[in-house]
Amino acid sequence: MGQAEPLWNTWEAPAPNEIPENLEEFLCHLSGPTVISLPGADPSTTRVAVTLLHGNEPSGAKAIHRLLREGFQPATNTLLVLACIATALTEPLFSHRLLPGCRDMNRCFKPPFDDYQGQLAKSLIDTLAGLQPEAIVDLHNTSGDGPAFAVTSQFGVEHMSLANLFTSRLVYTDLSLGSLMEITEPGCPVVTIECGGARQAESDDVAYQGLQEYLLRPHLFKNAAAVQLDLYRHPMRLELKEGFQIDCSSQPTDADVTLQRGVQNLNFGEVETGQQLAWLGEQGMAALQVKDGEGGNRLDEFFEQREGMLCTRQPLKLFMVTENPHIAATDCLFYLVGVE
Ligand SMILES: [Zn+2]
Repeated sequence: MGQAEPLWNTWEAPAPNEIPENLEEFLCHLSGPTVISLPGADPSTTRVAVTLLHGNEPSGAKAIHRLLREGFQPATNTLLVLACIATALTEPLFSHRLLPGCRDMNRCFKPPFDDYQGQLAKSLIDTLAGLQPEAIVDLHNTSGDGPAFAVTSQFGVEHMSLANLFTSRLVYTDLSLGSLMEITEPGCPVVTIECGGARQAESDDVAYQGLQEYLLRPHLFKNAAAVQLDLYRHPMRLELKEGFQIDCSSQPTDADVTLQRGVQNLNFGEVETGQQLAWLGEQGMAALQVKDGEGGNRLDEFFEQREGMLCTRQPLKLFMVTENPHIAATDCLFYLVGVE
């Protein structure tokens, strides 16, 4: 048996001229999960930015690549974590959320840690726990087009302050999915930033400008108490139950649930009672669930079947609405909160 390969590559203080000019070449150069460390003006603390937990979400990697090329001088010591490089590089570039046969990396930050993704997650948790950084931000994109928003599983002025570097919307959720933002070992605020749609140019601007502000600001949480945000508390997920099929079309299909084409335009808007969302098959609403924290199904509270269609039963705010049947089936159709 040979020596086990380290799970993470490390690169200390790369000079701007060592960073390949082309983003794809940069990722090829990293070749696998990588932690890049940079010394800061204030070495007494470290700020962490993570990205590419999902291979089809490029805005964070683009922002990191650009900042490194520019030779930016961070305010504090900095760790830049680029996780699923091989997934991102699988052709066509930035097209795979995860690779076939692998678990979703951003569902692996809780036990069991026994497969490759789990070990990668556990190793990152241990590194961050040992470091005790000042803050962690994890940069993502949504699959559908839409505006940027932040997500946190802890709620406080520091989380609001971090979110506000990137966006004015904050989702506060206590759903336990095994995502990076749920980890408590580092003892610092952790927020997820959804920079906007993966194919939207403004998402890249959100990531670049927010990350620059995050890493260059001398006092991260100055004025934190004054931050005002549009809050989405305790959203629930509309999920497809196992064994059912979902599709997305402008007309009904043979699938158990057919999302109506254009449904992602409802992202972050308020929808009225009776809003049509999807065509239902013979099994009706039995194909769907809205799980609460105790494992109950609250589907009937929020939705009802009208003339063969899934409709809202009360005014709701929806977000992360996807028209991608694969994501709808393996993750969720969308998140929802009641209108307060
Ligand atoms: Zn993601």
